[in-house]
Amino acid sequence: MPLDPVRSIAIVGGGTAGWMTAATLSHYLKGLGCHIRLVESSEIGTIGVGEATIPPIISHLASLGIDENDLIRKTQATFKLGIEFKDWTQPGHSYIHPFGPTGFQRNGVDFTAYWLKCREAGKAPPLEAHSITAVAARQARFMRPVDLANSPLQHIAYALHLDASLLAAYLRAYAEARCVMRTEGKVRNVAVRPSDGFIESITLESGERIEADLYIDCTGFRGLLIEGALKTGYEDWTRWLPCDRAMAVACERTGPLSSHTLAMGREVGWQWRIPLQHRVGNGYVYSSHFVKDEEARDILLGSLEGRALRDPLALRFTTGRRRLSWNKNCVAIGLSAGFLEPLESTGIHMIQRGAFVLVNFFPDRRFRQADIDGYNRRMTFEYERVRDFIVAHYSQTRREGEFWRYCREMELPDSLQERLELFRGYGRIIRDPAELFSEQSWFFILTGQDVRPASYEPRAADISPADTQRLLEQITEVVARCAATMPPHQDFIAQNCAAPAP
Ligand SMILES: Cc1cc2nc3c(=O)[nH]c(=O)nc-3n(C[C@H](O)[C@H](O)[C@H](O)COP(=O)(O)OP(=O)(O)OC[C@H]3O[C@@H](n4cnc5c(N)ncnc54)[C@H](O)[C@@H]3O)c2cc1C
Repeated sequence: MPLDPVRSIAIVGGGTAGWMTAATLSHYLKGLGCHIRLVESSEIGTIGVGEATIPPIISHLASLGIDENDLIRKTQATFKLGIEFKDWTQPGHSYIHPFGPTGFQRNGVDFTAYWLKCREAGKAPPLEAHSITAVAARQARFMRPVDLANSPLQHIAYALHLDASLLAAYLRAYAEARCVMRTEGKVRNVAVRPSDGFIESITLESGERIEADLYIDCTGFRGLLIEGALKTGYEDWTRWLPCDRAMAVACERTGPLSSHTLAMGREVGWQWRIPLQHRVGNGYVYSSHFVKDEEARDILLGSLEGRALRDPLALRFTTGRRRLSWNKNCVAIGLSAGFLEPLESTGIHMIQRGAFVLVNFFPDRRFRQADIDGYNRRMTFEYERVRDFIVAHYSQTRREGEFWRYCREMELPDSLQERLELFRGYGRIIRDPAELFSEQSWFFILTGQDVRPASYEPRAADISPADTQRLLEQITEVVARCAATMPPHQDFIAQNCAAPAP
């Protein structure tokens, strides 16, 4: 059957989702002669938060041919080696979820099993001491990985902290240079074809009517096309992720430039600290059932390290996901597709995935249902697995108070319950290879939150306790030595990618 190619795409929304999707499609669809148009309204504006990322952004930017140092300079970005959870497990406690692989594998058994075995004997070095990124993050150091065999320095994995509006502007310049056409305007009406329920056109307040074969809804929480026009429905996950509000404010930076995101547990929810070159982003994520907005605002403003640069921005959200990310000829990407809350910085990642998976299932004008179903299955899987990872943080703490008690006692998703049961036996993490978070990510957060397995993987009995301990001590010594050779984060940026003063 001859192809009936998609000739035009209309992206509605110009936040991080809109411009990242435009950049991705303009790159991967080049040569197909498909016309891409993006409509955005500066009157409505963007959400303006979303500044911490995770490592897959690095390969995504590289796949688009973006020069990382250039992006860093133009978005006031810094490097990120992981997330520190401070006062999370309980007040006074701190652990890091570091990026990248750690330790070794012996006959398919991960080093974490040997670590559990040593801990059972009371002789394990601290878990973090095995991770080059955790050790470097504690010392505010950074460098990119180097090609040195048998060195932990080759395993440095990193992400970026970026200024959200500068990122959108950067991606806009990239996409416009690849023939994406931008239209300033507010969508007033979305027309749906009565015969099949597909979107037929959008009309702007100016009266201009825009028709396209494929529509991408990047209108943020509004979901103007996917929900407003197509009534797709939303799966509410508030019972597992009860935070529904955030206050965000930038402040002046004081002190050296840290190389990790900080997530600080609060009586109700948590507070982020994201260091950029020109300022620090802060936000308090909380549940309106347990704390009032004014109190949240005071808590945030009372805990800033430097002068607030503007009034806090108040945001409301409902955690969950759209029932279908792709419905008829409309694909929702970004906040219009769902929002899990920012604890593990997964919002921008889900945008990347939404755009990239669309490239893999790119339709022709017949819009085969099998492709639509394939896309939706994939995105559902990714949202649900990330959800479980974040819920695990909330549900496994020893913090006092009504909010944290609720989180500890809530009924968990079956998929998470099953995973925790397996972990509680022999410390096993069984996951699908396509999941975002690795076995070691799970291990670091569950161990950081003091979830203790009854025993360790039986196959880790293949070497003596004394040899196991020696092996782990060797790793921590090498990691400490290598981390000491890494420059301070501040110096690395000054030498490689300092942004001009704002
Ligand atoms: C509190 C909070 C913290 C977050 N922190 C992180 C983080 O640290 N890391 C991370 O990866 N993600 C984070 N996120 C998620 C991240 O902010 C979003 O994924 C990202 O900004 C994408 O937003 P968006 O483009 O979907 O929506 P928006 O930024 O809201 O953009 C919507 C666009 O649609 C346009 N629009 C809307 N209606 C119309 C209309 N009628 N006509 C024309 N245009 C219209 C608007 O003008 C705008 O351009 C956070 C989110 C929240 C709420």
